[in-house]
Amino acid sequence: MTGISKSFPGIRALSEVDLDVAAGEVHAVVGENGAGKSTLMKVLAGVYQPDEGTIELEGAAVRLADPIEARRRGIGMVYQELNLVPDLTVAENILLGSTPSRLGIVDRRALREQARAVLDELDARIHTDDLVGSLTVSQQQIVEIAKVYAARPKIVVLDEPTSSLSEHETQALFRIIGRMTDAGIAVIYISHRLREVLDISQRVTVLRDGRLVETRSTSGISAAEMIRLMVGRDLTEVFPKTEVEIGDVVLDVRGLTRSGEFDDISLTVRSGEILGLAGLVGAGRTEVARAIFGLDDADAGTIEVDGTAVRIRGPRDAVRAGIAYVPEDRKRDGIVPQLSIKDNISLSVLDRVSVGGWIRPGAERALARQKAEELSVSPPAIAPRIDTLSGGNQQKVVFAKWLATGPRVLILDEPTRGVDVGAKADIHTIIGELAAQGTAIILISSELPEVLAVSDRIVVLHEGRIAAELPRGAAEHEVMHAATGEVSS
Ligand code: ADP
Ligand code: MG
Repeated sequence: MTGISKSFPGIRALSEVDLDVAAGEVHAVVGENGAGKSTLMKVLAGVYQPDEGTIELEGAAVRLADPIEARRRGIGMVYQELNLVPDLTVAENILLGSTPSRLGIVDRRALREQARAVLDELDARIHTDDLVGSLTVSQQQIVEIAKVYAARPKIVVLDEPTSSLSEHETQALFRIIGRMTDAGIAVIYISHRLREVLDISQRVTVLRDGRLVETRSTSGISAAEMIRLMVGRDLTEVFPKTEVEIGDVVLDVRGLTRSGEFDDISLTVRSGEILGLAGLVGAGRTEVARAIFGLDDADAGTIEVDGTAVRIRGPRDAVRAGIAYVPEDRKRDGIVPQLSIKDNISLSVLDRVSVGGWIRPGAERALARQKAEELSVSPPAIAPRIDTLSGGNQQKVVFAKWLATGPRVLILDEPTRGVDVGAKADIHTIIGELAAQGTAIILISSELPEVLAVSDRIVVLHEGRIAAELPRGAAEHEVMHAATGEVSS
């Protein structure tokens, strides 16, 4: 790809970007959210036509008029969002579009055998007859890769494949990538996890603001240097912590229980304090957060805010009591994708910008603009639909929405998952500012370095119970011991 430029209304997503990848190579593409990585890949996949620039495959100029043409020429895309049919089997999904048939009848045995052969080539241990809807996300992702691989591609693009994978699952994915490069496939690998990029790629290309910063051999670059190239400035700390004076108890939870999910959870959070809620996936962290916010009913327990007992029967009660919750799955709970950035921000504060039921458009716009500016949402416009923003910027809008309510207690569930280093630092600066204003904060994060860096205190859950409470400065292995149930309080 040479000199690729692509503009959308009001934004130049790519400016004269070059990228090449060789057979059998893994070429990583990194950059902050919004740097243009996905757009470049969609140009390669025939989804977008470039405004300028040329694409050559094996030395010959090609025009990739649409995704079908790109696929026909051997370009396989594994998108961030999976494109499988849940009600079909693994085999049917893998061979979708090229199902073997005899006299118009699907040849089920051939179907199964061909799918099995593809999975075996990738060393993937998944049953061909299982319904895709019954698989875990990581297994579905492997099916998606197998589907792309079954079409015998020359190039495979993986756009942030590991953002929802565990360490173990990531290793399985890496083995599959190894199989593909052994077969001479050129792999383009997009990821925010820089350590993975160092492990798996031979070259790395850094994009910033739609421009090519540099393409380098991976052996000659460190994670710190990649970050510097990505953000154009030195990030000394990925998780900046604002030092804040800690005050009185704001949130006091006692004996909170929801049968089957968590049991006898008692915790306090003080004004200005960040309480880290650590634990393995399934330990009950999100379930506790949901109950405090009234999304699920607790069977027992009491909640006090600023010394006053509150009864929380639903999110409305929680918001009235000064509790805000930024959920993990922003796509499902955090934003309304069809609405503009402005509408998303003002949704939670309608009564502040309305008079007698009428929304005052001026006030609404001013509030949205102020919040977007405070959070340096990029691009700085509030009229576009929120789903045109990158993940990190969508997350900032979710923050803006809740900040507008001025909460006493703010519960953040995986606030930086799938967010690049620059936006991560921005989000932590915002969290620090909120703490400085006296908000009591509960931070749920699966990234232990993040919890350790920013929490004043850490409560560790194990199988729905509090396994340990650790002070600031606790070591990673202490948290892990408690989280795996090796110690109890
Ligand atoms: P990345 O994948 O590096 O996070 P993207 O390629 O998704 O970045 O986005 C690059 C820029 O182009 C962003 O500012 C984004 O908001 C914008 N953009 C991407 N797709 C569209 C689109 N379909 N319409 C308008 N703007 C878009
Ligand atoms: Mg992207």
